[in-house]
Parts: sequence; structure tokens; C-alpha cells
Amino acid sequence: MERSIVVVAEHTQGRLTPVTYEAMACALEIQRIQPARIVTVVVGEDAVEVAQEAIDACDQSVLAVKVPGLDSYNGEAYRWTLSHALCGLGASWICVPGTTQGFDFGPGLAVRLGASCLSNIERVFEQDGQPIFVRNLFNGKISAELSAAAPTLLIVQPGSFRWERHDIKGRSYVEVITVEWAPTHTRLLGFKSLYPVDSALRDALVIVSAGRGIERRENLELIHRVASLFPRSAVAGSRPLCDNQWLPYRLQVGQTGATVAPDLYMACGISGAQQHLAGMRGSKFIVAVNTDPEAAIFHEADVGVVEDLEVFLADLLEESARLTP
Ligand SMILES: Cc1cc2nc3c(=O)[nH]c(=O)nc-3n(C[C@H](O)[C@H](O)[C@H](O)COP(=O)(O)OP(=O)(O)OC[C@H]3O[C@@H](n4cnc5c(N)ncnc54)[C@H](O)[C@@H]3O)c2cc1C
Repeated sequence: MERSIVVVAEHTQGRLTPVTYEAMACALEIQRIQPARIVTVVVGEDAVEVAQEAIDACDQSVLAVKVPGLDSYNGEAYRWTLSHALCGLGASWICVPGTTQGFDFGPGLAVRLGASCLSNIERVFEQDGQPIFVRNLFNGKISAELSAAAPTLLIVQPGSFRWERHDIKGRSYVEVITVEWAPTHTRLLGFKSLYPVDSALRDALVIVSAGRGIERRENLELIHRVASLFPRSAVAGSRPLCDNQWLPYRLQVGQTGATVAPDLYMACGISGAQQHLAGMRGSKFIVAVNTDPEAAIFHEADVGVVEDLEVFLADLLEESARLTP
């Protein structure tokens, strides 16, 4: 049987989500190392309509798994339908976006397929003709390189693979199968949007972002004062600050928060966990202030300041006051 690399598409309201394209980019990198056809699989009642977007995006085969009545995500449905749909594809690698959905159905799907499962994959490179998968541990301080035997399901870390549009060479096609499914254990009651992203974050040219390293809530005052030095600026934070209720969730940057791309992003007391980087990696210039010279954020930063943020930010404010007429 011809081997394949499968991408499980995530979609909402009839559109593929950006992380699906990142999973496709991961599949393309594996394909460069180990040639195989790529098949994007779309599951749901509107699978055929959504499949068209995948076809338009690049030169790939798309399998639309039409499931009557499945008008929104259901983990049980994904595990069940995908375990059947993937049987005939000879999948060596199955790339799943590393979102709440991917983590929900991915490991269970791997079990059903008799595949292994690697999570948080952020890079792939070649060694002796085999793909080696890279993920980080301990908030980016340790990088693990993993080799795996096919079949393996890969949960792809959001923000790690860059999608570039490809020339469409006209070899792509959609195959449609219909699978009947009825919920037995879980059913969706509804969606609630809890934390709308602050539009000020999207519009800001400068974002001063606070992490757990600010240590005390009162230090947010320093962060606000530094932000106020710049026109069109905003204050944001990492997840622990929002969990502590020091900042509202609408100001959280990262995988489960806002994705931002300001001209300047100042990360103050932020370690640089992948989940945070996923939301701010696109910033044009990154300044990181951290007492730990080994902090992972320094790999992303254009300027790294190894200093206590209270000392550095106070100096910055003082210097700015001195220079302001
Ligand atoms: C599914 C999932 C989704 C997630 N989504 C998000 C998300 O959207 N956004 C997000 O941010 N996180 C997210 N996380 C959490 C993420 O994994 C990290 O735990 C979090 O980003 C760490 O936040 P931090 O860098 O502020 O804190 P820490 O990792 O604790 O880092 C604090 C840093 O401050 C430094 N520091 C300490 N004192 C000082 C000082 N006085 N001056 C300067 N530096 C100092 C330390 O050296 C350290 O590097 C998610 C996790 C999971 C599992």
C-alpha cells in the first residue's frame, strides 16, 4: 500500500483554522525527508465544503469524511470516524494541530490506530534518512530529539511551523466518504466565548508584557508606566498572571490567548514557554528582561537584558524622564 502522511484538519464555521496550515507545513517537512503523499482529512457535516479550502491551499489529496449531524467538534466522533477513515490510507505519520481539540482526540486516536503519539512537536530534521522530531521540555530549557517508528501521531505545537502557499499543480482531488455516527458518551451542549481578546492588543504597536517574574502584583504599576512611554501601546501578560487574576484573560498572550505581532514586544519576567511564544513570535522586535541567562525567551529576543526587571524598568523610566524635556 502507498504510504501517506495524514493531516487532520481543524475547522470552525466552515473555515480551516490557522493551526491546520501549520500542521500541513509540518507534514511537508516530513515529506521532504521521507517522500509520501500527503492527505488532509476533514471531518464533519460540512466536510466537503471545508475540503475545498484545503484543495485551494496546496497540491494535496483531501479526504472529506462527511458525518451527518456532526455540525461541531466532538472528540468521541473524531476518534471513532478517523480510526475508520484512516484505515485504508497507510498513514505513517498523522499530524494533528496541538490545540485543545488535538489534545482531546489525538492520544485516543493513536491508541485506536495502534500508533505511538508524540506531543508538542516544534521542529523536524533529517538523520540517516529518518525524520527526527523535536519538542521542548521545562519551558524551553531542554530540547528533546525523538525518533519514532511509523505509524506515529504527532501533535504539532502551534506557532512552530510556518505555512507558505504552494503552487497548485492540479494533482489534488477530494475523495468523499460518508460515515454514520451517533453520540454514545458525550454530546455538545453549546459554546460560550469567555475571554474575548482585547482589540487594543491587536492594534498596539508596542506591547509590554508581564510574566510570573514580576513576582508581586504591585509591580504591574511598573509595567503600565513603561507602556505609557510609547504611543499606541498596551499591557499584556502570560497565563500565570491571568490565572492569578492579576490581569484579565483578554490580555493573555499565547496559544490559549491572543496572537499579537506588534513592532515591539517587551517580555518582562517571562520564561519563553512554547505556549507563550506561539502568541508573540510574529512580533517585529522582541526585548526580553529576565534574571536567568538560560531563559528560553532569549532564543527569540532581538535584545536580551539579564537583569532584575524591577531594577531595569526603574532605570528605563528614570532615563526616559531625564531625556524628556
Ligand atoms: C495547553 C496549555 C496552554 C497554555 N497557554 C498559554 C498561553 O496562552 N499563554 C501563556 O503565557 N502560557 C500558556 N501556558 C502556560 C505555559 O506553559 C507557561 O507555564 C507560562 O507561559 C509561563 O509563564 P511565565 O513565563 O510568566 O512564568 P515562568 O515560566 O514561571 O517564568 C518566569 C520567569 O521570570 C524570570 N524571573 C523571575 N524573577 C525575575 C525578576 N525579578 N526579574 C526578571 N525576571 C525574573 C524567571 O527567570 C523565569 O524565566 C499554557 C500551558 C498549557 C499546558
